[in-house]
Amino acid sequence: MKLSRQFTILGSGIFCVVVFSLYLMLDHIDHSKNPNGERHQKGQLGILQDKIDHLERLLAENNEIIANIRDSVINLRETVKDGKVFPERNISQGILELHPPAPLLLPIHSEDCQFAARTYSRAADGVQMLDVHDLLNFDNPDGGVWKQGFDISYQEHEWDNESLQVFVVPHSHNDPGWLKTFDDYYKDQTQHILNNMVVKLHENIQMKMIWSEISYFSKWWENIDEQKRDAVKRLIENGQLEVATGGWVMPDEANTHYFALIDQLVEGHQWLENNLGVKPKTGWAVDPFGHSPTQAYLLKQAGMSNMLIQRVHYSVKKHFASQKTLEFFWRQNWDQDATSDILCHMMPFYSYDVPHTCGPDPKICCQFDFKRLPGGRVSCPWRIPPQAITDNNVQERALTLLDQYRKKSKLYRTKVLLAPLGDDFRYTEAVEWDQQYGNYQKLFDYMNSHPELHVKAQFGTISDYFDALRKSTGLDATGTSVGTPALPVVSGDFFTYADRDDHYWSGYFTSRPFYKHLDRMLESYIRAAEILYSLTMANIQKYDKPTNYPAGDNYKLLTEARRNLGLFQHHDAITGTGKDWVVVDYGTRLFHSIMNVKRIIVSSAHWLVIKDKQTYSHDPSNPFLQMDDAQPAQDALLRKTVLEIHDRPRLVVVYNPTEQARTSMVTLHVNTLHVRVLDALGLVVPAQVSALWNDATNAATDVFQLSFLAHATPLGLSMYQLTEGMEMRTEASKYTFPQEGRDIAVSGLEHFRQSYHQYASSVQIENSQLELSISTVTGLLERVKLKEGGVEHQVKVEFVWYGTTSKKDKSGAYLFLPDGDATIYSSSQPTMIRVTKGPVFSEVTTTFPHITHTLRLYNIQGVEGQSVEICNTVDIRGETNREIAMRITSDLNSKDRFFTDLNGYQVQPRKTMAKLPLQANFFPMTSMVYLEDSSSRLSLLTAQSLGAASLKSGQLEVIMDRRLNQDDNRGLGQGVLDNKITANSFRLLLEKRSSEEETKKEETAPYSYPSLLSHMSSMYLNHPLISMSSSLDSVDVPLTVYNPLRTSFPCDVHLVNLRTIQSKEEGGGPSDQAALILHRKGFDCGFSNQNTGLLCATTRGKVPFEKLLTDLKVKSIIPASLSLMHTHNSEGDPQEIHLKPMEIRTYRLQLS
Ligand SMILES: [Zn+2]
Repeated sequence: MKLSRQFTILGSGIFCVVVFSLYLMLDHIDHSKNPNGERHQKGQLGILQDKIDHLERLLAENNEIIANIRDSVINLRETVKDGKVFPERNISQGILELHPPAPLLLPIHSEDCQFAARTYSRAADGVQMLDVHDLLNFDNPDGGVWKQGFDISYQEHEWDNESLQVFVVPHSHNDPGWLKTFDDYYKDQTQHILNNMVVKLHENIQMKMIWSEISYFSKWWENIDEQKRDAVKRLIENGQLEVATGGWVMPDEANTHYFALIDQLVEGHQWLENNLGVKPKTGWAVDPFGHSPTQAYLLKQAGMSNMLIQRVHYSVKKHFASQKTLEFFWRQNWDQDATSDILCHMMPFYSYDVPHTCGPDPKICCQFDFKRLPGGRVSCPWRIPPQAITDNNVQERALTLLDQYRKKSKLYRTKVLLAPLGDDFRYTEAVEWDQQYGNYQKLFDYMNSHPELHVKAQFGTISDYFDALRKSTGLDATGTSVGTPALPVVSGDFFTYADRDDHYWSGYFTSRPFYKHLDRMLESYIRAAEILYSLTMANIQKYDKPTNYPAGDNYKLLTEARRNLGLFQHHDAITGTGKDWVVVDYGTRLFHSIMNVKRIIVSSAHWLVIKDKQTYSHDPSNPFLQMDDAQPAQDALLRKTVLEIHDRPRLVVVYNPTEQARTSMVTLHVNTLHVRVLDALGLVVPAQVSALWNDATNAATDVFQLSFLAHATPLGLSMYQLTEGMEMRTEASKYTFPQEGRDIAVSGLEHFRQSYHQYASSVQIENSQLELSISTVTGLLERVKLKEGGVEHQVKVEFVWYGTTSKKDKSGAYLFLPDGDATIYSSSQPTMIRVTKGPVFSEVTTTFPHITHTLRLYNIQGVEGQSVEICNTVDIRGETNREIAMRITSDLNSKDRFFTDLNGYQVQPRKTMAKLPLQANFFPMTSMVYLEDSSSRLSLLTAQSLGAASLKSGQLEVIMDRRLNQDDNRGLGQGVLDNKITANSFRLLLEKRSSEEETKKEETAPYSYPSLLSHMSSMYLNHPLISMSSSLDSVDVPLTVYNPLRTSFPCDVHLVNLRTIQSKEEGGGPSDQAALILHRKGFDCGFSNQNTGLLCATTRGKVPFEKLLTDLKVKSIIPASLSLMHTHNSEGDPQEIHLKPMEIRTYRLQLS
C-alpha cells in the first residue's frame, strides 16, 4: 500500500519533469531554428503552423509517455507483489524512457514453438551424416591404385542391355585470386582461356565447356566486342557452353555468412540475366574445402535442380562409394516435407584434376590428360606420359580408358558416367584445346563405332550429364526424390575435410582472422547501405521533385561494393589461403568498399532526415553528416573520430540497421568530460564518460569516451544532441585497479575516481540480469550468475597456445596439425587489470603481452543486457608456429555434444570424437557455438568466422589467430606470417531451460535451434547501431526523425536485404524495384522468455509488410526465386507474405 503510493507520487513527479522538459525543448527548438534571431516575415505563418503541428505531435507523444508511466507503475506493483524490488536506479532510468517498455513475457504464439519442438524421425531411405561419423573407423588402409578406396571389379557383360553413357565435361577452375591477384590471373590466363574458348568451340561443334565464375566472365565481357558477344550467345544457345552455378565466385562454404553467399549469387545471376539471359540449373563446386548444406539450400531456392561437390573427407567418400550413395538428394536436417531436396553428385576420388576424374587409377588417367603430352610444360608424376592417339594405338588406348570409366561407373547406381576434364586455369592456349579435343574425339569415335563395347562417349556440359542421369532414373528435369527410390536421401554436412592421412583442413577456419572480421563489417555496412538506399530512392520517387541526391553515383559505389564483397567469398579469399600480396589486394578492396558504402549511408541519411527536401544539397567535400569512425588503412583497426563539443549543439544521427526496435549503447569520442546528451524530444539522456586509454596504463587527458543508451526504432534514424556543460545525468566512470602484488602506476586519470585495491580473490561487475565474478589474480572470468532464479555457473575463461607438430607435415594456411593438447597461456599473470563502473556499462579489461581482453556488461533492460560482451585484441606477431585460443570451461554437463552454426543460417549438432585427432574435432563457426545440459545452455556468439571446438564436456574453445612459419603443401607455397593486430568480438550468453523434457528428446535429433534471444543477440552483435555526426555549422537546418516502420518485424523474421535491382538499360543504374529478401528463423522456445527485452512478437510466419510501412506504399510485390532468376506466380494475396520456418524468400518489390 505504502509502496504503491510512492510509485504514484513518483509517476506524477516524472510527469511534471516530462512536461517541463517539453517546454524547455520547445524553447530550444525555437533557438535552434533561428540561431541568429532573424525572422523572415514571409515564413512567420509557416513557422507558427509548424509549431502547432509540433505541439500536436508532442501532445500525442505525451499521452504515450503517460501511458508508459502507467504501465511501468503497474509493472512495478506486480514486481513488488512478487516480492522483488527493482534497484532504485532502474526506476529513475526506466520510467523516463520514452519507448514502450519490453513486455515482461515475450509474446510467442504457441504454434511457432512446434517446429523446433517436434520429435525427430528419420526418413526411411535417409542417410544422416552424424550416423555416418559414428559408424566410420576413419582408418586409412592402402586401397591399391585407388589409394584411399578399394579394388573395383566388373563383369564384361554388365552393359550389354544398357550401354554406358560417358559425359566428358571440359572445365577450367579459375580462382579469382590465390597465387596471383584477380586482375593478374585475368590478364595472364583467364582472358586467354575465354578468347580461345570462343574460337575453339566454333571450330569443333562437338566440343563443350562449362564456366562458373561470373566475376571473371563479366570482366571479360566488358573487354570484348559485339561480334564476340554474339558468338558467345550462340554457343550458349546451341548448348556448347554452359554457365554452372553462375555466382560471382565459387564461394567458400565454411567461413561465409549466408548474407554474402546470397549476395554474390544474386550479383552473378543478375549479371547473367541482364547480359546473356541464361538461368543456370546446376551448381558446380570442385574446390571449396568441405561442403555446407546451406549452399545446397540456397542453390535450391535459386531454382537450381542439381549440384556437384568434390572436397569431402576421404573416409566418407570411400563409404559413400561402397554404399553407392555418391549421388543423392541432399535434404536439410530440419526439412520435414522434402521440399529442400536437391540432386547432388559427389566426386569419388582425391581431386578434380584429370588423373583423379577418369577412373580409380591416377597413373592411367594421367595418360589421358593430353596437355601433359611429352614436350609440354606439365607432365605426369606417375612417370607414364600420355600418347597422342593414332590409328595404331587407338584401340589399346580406348580400351584402357574404357576400363577406367567402367570401374568408376561401378561406384554409382546408374549407367550414366561423369568424367570432368580440366584443372586449375586450363585451356589457356589454343594448342591445349586441340590436344584435348583431337585426342578425345578419336577415342570417342573408336568407342562409339564398336557396338560390342556398349558405350556411348561424348563431350558434355554438367547439365547434359544430369539430364541423362535424371532420364535414366525416371526423374523429370527438375524433379526431386518424391516417389523415386532410385537415389538415396542424405542429410547433414561435409566438415571437417581431410584429403589424406590426418591432414584436416581446420586451420583455414581461422587463418587471417583480421580479414574475416573486416568481411563481416563490410557485410553489415553493405546491408545497412542497401536498405537505406532503397528507402531513400522510394522516398525520392514519392517526393517527385528534382533533387541532387547522388542516386547514380551511389548505385555505382554500391555495385562495386557488392562485387568486392562477392569476390572475397571466394574459397581462397575469406579462407585466408592466398599469397600475402593477394590478401592485401582483397583487403584494399574491402577497405575501399567500407568507405564507399559509408558515403552512401551518410548521404541517404541526410536526405531522409532533412525536413525541407528542397534544401538538400550533396557536397562530397563537405558532407552534412560524417561517420564517427574511420579505418586509417586496410590492415589497421577502426578508429573513432573525436567530436568537438562546444556550447552550440552537435547533432548525432543514429541509424538502426536492424528491423527491430532496440536500445543499444552508442560510444563516441569527445573532447570534454562535460557533455549533456539530449534526445529528439529534448530530454536529457543518461550518459557515462570514461577515459580513453592510449595503452594499458596511460589515459588520454584531452579525449574521452562518451557512452549513452540510444533508443532506435526499426530501420529508423533517431537523433541526439550533444552540448557542452555540466550535467548531473552524465556520470564519470569509476576505476578500480586490483593490485594483487602488481605495481600499478596509472597516468592521465585525474578527472576520474580511482582506487587501488588488494582484493581477496575476485571482483564483481553486474547489471540487473547478470553478475560476473572475475579473478583478481588472472583477471579472467570465473563465474556467471543469472539473477532471475539465482542460477550460478562456473564459466572460466582461459587463453591457451597450440604449437605445431614436429613431424614433416606442419600447420599452414589450410591445415591445423598441432603438437598435441594446448598449453595454458604462459603469461597467466596479467600486467594490468582495470575495472570500470558506471551507469551505462561496467567492464573489466585485462592486459596480457599478446591479448587485451575486455568483459563488458551493459546496464540495459533490453537484449544487450542479457549477455556478456567479450572483446579480445590479439597480437601474436612476435611468435613462431603458434596459435592462440580462448577457452571457456563451464560446469555444464554437455558430454561430447556441442553445436556450431553453418553460415549463420542453421545450427549443426556436433560430436567430439575420441577416435579422431584433435584437429578433426574443430569446426567452422560463422555466428555461434554452444553447448548444453538438461538445465542450461551456454552460447558464444561471434562477430567473425573462426574455428571452434568442444574438446571436453562443458568446454568451448575458439582459435583467435595463427602464425605459421611454413607452407602446408597445398599449393600456396608460403606460411602465414602477415598477422595483424586483430580485434575479435563475442557475446557470451547463458540461458536456463524452462523445461528439461525438451533436452532429452533433442539428444538424438540432428538439428537444434537458438532461442529468440540468442538470434537477436547475434544480430545486434553483427549489426551495431551506426552513428553519424553533423558538421559544426549545420545545426540550423530543420530536421526530422525518420521511422520507415510502424513496429518491429516479427521476432523470428529477419530482413536479409532490401537490395535495389539493377536496371537493364545501358549503364546499369538503379531500377525502381528492389529485392526484398526475408528469412524466417527456426527457434527453440524452451528457454526462459521472461524479461528478454525483445520488443516484438511472433506471428506464425505472417509478415503484413505493407501494414508495417509508415509513409511508403507497396506498389507491387511479386514472389521470385532467391536470386530473382525465376518469377513465381503469386499465390493468394500478394500483400500477405507467409514464410515457413527456416525459409528464405525473395520478392520483387516496388514501393511508392
Ligand atoms: Zn580454387
